[in-house]
Amino acid sequence: RASKSTNGIFLPHLVASLEQVDQTYIMVKPDGVQRGLVGEIISRFERKGFKLTGLKLFQCPKELAEEHYKDLKAKPFYPTLIDYITSGPVVCMVWEGVGVVASARKLIGSTNPLQAEPGTIRGDLAVQTGRNVVHGSDSPENGKREAALWFKEGELCEWTPAQASWLTE
Ligand code: ADP
Repeated sequence: RASKSTNGIFLPHLVASLEQVDQTYIMVKPDGVQRGLVGEIISRFERKGFKLTGLKLFQCPKELAEEHYKDLKAKPFYPTLIDYITSGPVVCMVWEGVGVVASARKLIGSTNPLQAEPGTIRGDLAVQTGRNVVHGSDSPENGKREAALWFKEGELCEWTPAQASWLTE
């Protein structure tokens, strides 16, 4: 992504593009879809200024839910978590940007909605850990892994938003 102007001097907006652009996998869970919160949740990421590169409504098969949550297999709530995630359609998204993973986790709020700060998605829109309306990847590595798990090749879209130069200098 490194680019120079014709006289060899780095232009500031091009230097900024050298920063690592990460991906995060965000999912509106079945309760968020059933409660009509899809637009509200997408809006929060859109308004923040991250770039949407993947989006679909999807009925998650049991095997995919199990793969996605495999690290939680030993937890007592694992079977009900799998039932919950497969209980109705989810909205799958990939968002891109510098620092997107940590920032999205802040926008989402704590796992337990009663402890999530007001102003966060879970803090504003949910009351229980077992119905916490949204998922967000917890590291850039998992962002990549989950994006590849939930989206097939060709389903993600590379594009340059018209507002790009108004978001970052
Ligand atoms: P987060 O989604 O905030 O990254 P975790 O990775 O710890 O949280 O857990 C994944 C999901 O498992 C949570 O979002 C929630 O849906 C479910 N979960 C976690 N802990 C509990 C619990 N104690 N009871 C019921 N469901 C839980």
